[in-house]
Amino acid sequence: MSEVLVYVDHVDGSVRKPTLELLTLARRIGEPVAVALGAGAADTASVLAAHGAVRVLTHDAAEYADYLVVPKVDALQAAVAEVSPVAVLVPSSAEGKEIAARLALRIGSGIITDAVDLEAGEDGPVATQSVFAASFSTKSRVVKGTPVITVKPNSAAVEATPAAGAVSELGVTFGSLATGTKVTGRNPRESTGRPELTEAAIVVSGGRGVNADFTAVEALADALGAAVGASRAAVDAGWYPHTNQVGQTGKSVSPQLYIANGISGAIQHRAGMQTSKTIVAVNKDAEAPIFDLVDYGVVGDLFDVVPQLTEEINARKG
Ligand code: FAD
Repeated sequence: MSEVLVYVDHVDGSVRKPTLELLTLARRIGEPVAVALGAGAADTASVLAAHGAVRVLTHDAAEYADYLVVPKVDALQAAVAEVSPVAVLVPSSAEGKEIAARLALRIGSGIITDAVDLEAGEDGPVATQSVFAASFSTKSRVVKGTPVITVKPNSAAVEATPAAGAVSELGVTFGSLATGTKVTGRNPRESTGRPELTEAAIVVSGGRGVNADFTAVEALADALGAAVGASRAAVDAGWYPHTNQVGQTGKSVSPQLYIANGISGAIQHRAGMQTSKTIVAVNKDAEAPIFDLVDYGVVGDLFDVVPQLTEEINARKG
């Protein structure tokens, strides 16, 4: 059976969820071969094998930490040469998309970014993208070279499917560009203890309706183990950090559940959340456009509704 390369996003050997989702999608089009790079790469093997990787190619070198993405592109290019895959799948993070674009250019292939689904096709993998502020879905296929496809988080379920996961060392020779941009410092953002917005299975957002007070939104998020999002109006007012903005000029999220509180549903906000699987809104205006796209809508004051919802969830959690 043909093999599919999956680029592994991990932190010191701890594999991030979008990579496990890629393994689910990869199995639809071939046998997943994972490529894990950098410190802790070898530690990823067991979890990758448990989720369907038939092989795990690893490589560690100081270059991966000390220089920006090019060493990783060199390594993926080496993996493509070794495996001759039917496709290369990369998580749709900012770094993932940069790696994918550079790789596609290097190997003379077409690229599809931000896919939300992937299926096997007669002439190669077919990717679904959500376009024009999520008003349309398109299906497309790369017609030149080895398809390089980046996939948005939460596009597939994580499935435990044990496979061999045979580990081998990838042979990598870094090119002259690899050490062109050196990382001179890192300042990790202070952790909120909540999941990363773009990867979270549940996102609870607040808009202008929260009137500067995100306490109720945060409490609901914590009851659900969710990330907190915000509309641009809330961010522009300085009520929540820009890193949490959802929408056209913010982040794109596609969680299993999106709860919009005091958000009207402007097209630019919808662009960033419309592909969420289940959408719930709390808004005191029954005519708010957000109600056009919800699965469940509550017309009411969020300061009444949201605390009751949080209380009920906490009570049911026991
Ligand atoms: P509003 O539109 O003011 O809506 C507030 C809602 O809260 C209302 O529906 C109101 O009924 C409700 N409400 C008020 N009080 C309560 C209460 N107590 N309980 C319940 N409901 C209540 N916006 C984004 O979000 N993300 C983007 O990335 C983005 N990018 C943009 C890019 C461009 C180029 C432009 C022009 C605009 C962009 N916008 C973006 C802005 C967008 O057009 C809207 O202005 C914005 O989304 C409105 O935010 P909001 O829904 O919080 O506020």
